[in-house]
Amino acid sequence: MRDHIYIAPLFCLLITCALAHAQPGLSSIREQDVRKDLFNMADDHFRGREAGTLDELKVSMWLADQAKAAGLKPAGDDGTYFQFFSMARNRISPASRITIGDHALSIGQDVLLPVTAPASLDAPLLFLRKEDTARADVSGKAVVLAASPQGLDLNVSLSIRRYPALMARRYATSLISRGAAAVIFIADSLAEGGWALNNSYFSRGSYDIPGGPNEHIPPRSPILWLHHDALDWIRQPGLSLHASLYVQQFEYPSVNVIGMIPGTDPSLSKEYVLFSGHQDHDGIHPFPGTDSIYNGADDNASVSVALLAIARAFNKAPGRRSALFVWHGAEERGLLGSRWYAAHPTVPASAITAVLNGDMIGRNTGDSAALLGVVPPHRNSTDLVKMALSANQQGPRFLLDTTYDKASHIEGWYFRSDHLPYARAGIPALFFTSLLHPDYHTPRDEASRIDTKKVARIAEWMYRTGWTVANTDARPAVDPGFRLER
Ligand SMILES: [Zn+2]
Repeated sequence: MRDHIYIAPLFCLLITCALAHAQPGLSSIREQDVRKDLFNMADDHFRGREAGTLDELKVSMWLADQAKAAGLKPAGDDGTYFQFFSMARNRISPASRITIGDHALSIGQDVLLPVTAPASLDAPLLFLRKEDTARADVSGKAVVLAASPQGLDLNVSLSIRRYPALMARRYATSLISRGAAAVIFIADSLAEGGWALNNSYFSRGSYDIPGGPNEHIPPRSPILWLHHDALDWIRQPGLSLHASLYVQQFEYPSVNVIGMIPGTDPSLSKEYVLFSGHQDHDGIHPFPGTDSIYNGADDNASVSVALLAIARAFNKAPGRRSALFVWHGAEERGLLGSRWYAAHPTVPASAITAVLNGDMIGRNTGDSAALLGVVPPHRNSTDLVKMALSANQQGPRFLLDTTYDKASHIEGWYFRSDHLPYARAGIPALFFTSLLHPDYHTPRDEASRIDTKKVARIAEWMYRTGWTVANTDARPAVDPGFRLER
């Protein structure tokens, strides 16, 4: 026993020394820092950090201050930590008019418009049972259907918010392609329960970066949702839908926050390991039974503060390659910040050797996590995957879920975070996450529900992976023939 007492500490000391030598910044990743930063960033003070609002700009200032304190050098535009870009927002204009018979319908209150597009029409109503939609002649008609979730797969995240889109995909797309002038769904109890929440999202409209497919929206046959009690009057014969829908366009600023720890090698320091997360979240929306501020503690304050911890580790001991940190703006509006940065990087695109992106790393069981970009067709660099898997074995030894990385997975999780534009641009890219949970995109995604120990351990895993990339002579290669198709 005594021997053990003497030998064990010596043995541990040697092991610790060897590991510390391998990743000399590890001790700078501390749960207490992660915890403090997380509670600050996910506070009501930032009002949900919605892109295109002052709240996102406010949290970006806060992040830049933290990045500076962590030792990062500014790596945005003009010697600052910031890269501003424009978002093009389109929304249905309040000047739009909708009437059915002599019912003037107020947008938001009486009618929901899930699709933001201009339209001008005057069409007779045709009330159909769902089983008759495949055969009926719908040309020039405003087709009315009673909504029900029958036959839809609602066993997905955010099912209340996705319900209108799932109904549209199931019925409206084909009716409109066969000439329907409009499709009107009559709300069931599921749609009524989600009315206020969906109205809050629909009224925002749609967003894109300049040059993106949704910057300018062409006219489309509209889809309308009416309250359940419209059944009291909508079946009387001879009614027509009159709709004049106008779209307003705004330009809003969003911003990426960017910092760097220069590498030590005279030549390799001109190459970069890019650590990525997003600082924005979903703002303020009504939600039954809770407060209305979406603090996004997991999504994505967790990764934002993990990046600060990784920055401290590289600041303590830089790698041979430079470490680049990008907190993307407007991820929740369609990966806008990462799409912008991947197209307009502040370092040469060819010098970005790998992108290690994280999104939501603080929930679910402490011993499990997921790495996406590992299972074909999502895997774009076998070299990078090997580095990340071996970093997991050296360090936190998470049990890894691989199901979410499969192309057949219903959530399409791989396509829902900021590594995607980089992978599309041919840069080796991975996505670290602790996956979905019931509080996802609700006001219940609060700091008090985050496993900060787990956040620190995933930060450690991302750091170990990035450290290997930064210090290995050869940069990770892109697998030949990589093609991303959903
Ligand atoms: Zn996210």
